[in-house]
Amino acid sequence: MAMDVKALYELQKVDTAIEQGKVALEKLPERSQLQSAIADLAGICRRRAEMRAQQQAMETELTTIEKASASIDAHHAKLERQMKTIIAAREAEALQHEMQTLETQRNELDDRGLLLLETSAATDDELRQLAQAEADAVSNESLASAALASAADSKTADISILQEQRIVVVSTIAQDDIAVYNRLCASYKGIAVAVIQHGVCGGCHMDISVSELDMIKRLPADQAAECPNCNRLLVR
Ligand SMILES: [Zn+2]
Repeated sequence: MAMDVKALYELQKVDTAIEQGKVALEKLPERSQLQSAIADLAGICRRRAEMRAQQQAMETELTTIEKASASIDAHHAKLERQMKTIIAAREAEALQHEMQTLETQRNELDDRGLLLLETSAATDDELRQLAQAEADAVSNESLASAALASAADSKTADISILQEQRIVVVSTIAQDDIAVYNRLCASYKGIAVAVIQHGVCGGCHMDISVSELDMIKRLPADQAAECPNCNRLLVR
C-alpha cells in the first residue's frame, strides 16, 4: 500500500491537538467555578426565602397576640367594673379567680410576644447579612461567568487556528490516503497513525517483535507500514 504516512502523521498530530483542545474546552476549570458560584447564590436565595417566611410567620403571630391581649384586657376591665358592684364574698372570690386566670394568660402572651420580638430582631440581622451575601454572590456569579466566556473564547480561538492548519495539511495529502486515514480514525478512537517507540506501537502500546520491526524496516520507502497488532499506520 503506497501512501505518504509522514504527511498523514502531520494530519494526525493536528487532529489530536484539535481533540485535546475540545476536551480542554469542555473541562475548563472556569466551568466548575461558575457552577459553584451558581450553587452558592441559590443556597443564599433559599436561606433568605426561609428567613423571610419565618419573619412573616412571627409577624402574623404577633398580630394575633396583640388582638388576644386587647380582648383579655377588655374582659379584665369588665370584671373590675363588676367587682365594684358585688357584695357577696363568694361571688367576689369567683370574680377574683377569673381575673387571676386572665392575668396569667396575659403574662404568658407577653412572654411569648417578647420572645418573638427578640427572635424577629435576630432574623432581621440575619436577613441584612443575607442581602449582602446575595449581592456578593450575584457579583461572583457574573465574574465567574465572564471568566468562563473569556477562557472559552481563547480555547475556541486555539481550535480555530488548528482547524485552519488542518485545511493546509489536508491539501497536501492524496484523497485516497485521507479516505484510509478517516476509516482508521473511525475504527481506532481517532488514532490512525502511530509512531514506534522503543519497539512499542504508540497506538495500541503493544510490543512489536524484533522480526516484525525488521520486516517493517525493509519495506520499500513508499510502502505504508502497519502495526501487526492494531493495524494502525506506523511512521518509520
Ligand atoms: Zn498497534
